[in-house]
Amino acid sequence: MVKTRGEKVKIFDSTLRDGAQGEGISFSVLDKLKIVSLLDDLGIDYVEAGNPGSNPKDLEFFEKVATLPLKRVRLVAFGATRRRNILPQDDANIRSLLTANTPAVAIFGKSWDFQVTDVLNTTLKENLKMISSTIAYLVEQGKEVHFDAEHFYDGYQDNPSYALECLNAAAEAGAASLVLCDTRGASLPSFVREATRVVVETFPNIEIGIHSHNDISFADANSIVAVEEGARQVQGTLAGFGERCGNAFLASIIPTVQLKMGFSVIPEESLSKLTLIAHSVAEIANNPISHDKPYVGRSAFAHKGGMHIDGVGKNPRSFEHIDPLKVGNERRLLM
Ligand SMILES: [Zn+2]
Repeated sequence: MVKTRGEKVKIFDSTLRDGAQGEGISFSVLDKLKIVSLLDDLGIDYVEAGNPGSNPKDLEFFEKVATLPLKRVRLVAFGATRRRNILPQDDANIRSLLTANTPAVAIFGKSWDFQVTDVLNTTLKENLKMISSTIAYLVEQGKEVHFDAEHFYDGYQDNPSYALECLNAAAEAGAASLVLCDTRGASLPSFVREATRVVVETFPNIEIGIHSHNDISFADANSIVAVEEGARQVQGTLAGFGERCGNAFLASIIPTVQLKMGFSVIPEESLSKLTLIAHSVAEIANNPISHDKPYVGRSAFAHKGGMHIDGVGKNPRSFEHIDPLKVGNERRLLM
């Protein structure tokens, strides 16, 4: 896939849903409202704001967030496909997604065959119907529906044709995007590249997204590889925290995709707020950003040792890959 300078890559932040699954993280309604405002100020496209079916506290939040004057963010409520053998409109979780009253919803469904038979305890055929009828119903209700294909990469490895059938069910039902999830976070970039390429070629007319986890340190690399192959939506959390070892670290992915790959991600003037906003979100979560994180960490542009300090003084390019001011960080000389 040839990259196009200036083409849009959308950012989908799940700090309030997947991020809240991180160990030790617990958001009050007020915390969540503050984080939505910060992400809106940064120019994030989608904020996945909670799972109203499994968490009644989220419904109180959805009522309040509707009163925020958001400039850019589209709010997303998150939930599962309908339960087996019932109609979507008879499923309480689907009804709570409508009650949340967001313009967009993210529906997660199984795309790994054994998870369907052994965990959901249903047939492969019924799972396809669960995906298509849930999405078709929500589209009918006026929602923009994103389909999170749970365990997509693992499913594609075991049974590629079934994993693609799940995507096809979602696409035909009217999904706005197909999001390929590396739910266990252990896929290698070479495999993510190969699988994403097939999906982009198979579904040329629908937006493809990636949702990756960091269990073997490749969440960020896998996100970048997917964009190189044609994915145009990246899901993650701004400060990187999330279930187990965390999600894709958006505070690094955003500047890489914008500054190094030439895509349009967030408004130029917002990029210089990246460091401040990432730290603000992390502070609200009581989970500070480690000093050595790329772009926004306190040490990201800190230089120690005579030769490095001398080099940066003569020409910053010698030891800095970007001007730190572009992401709102600063050069520090450690004497
Ligand atoms: Zn996740």
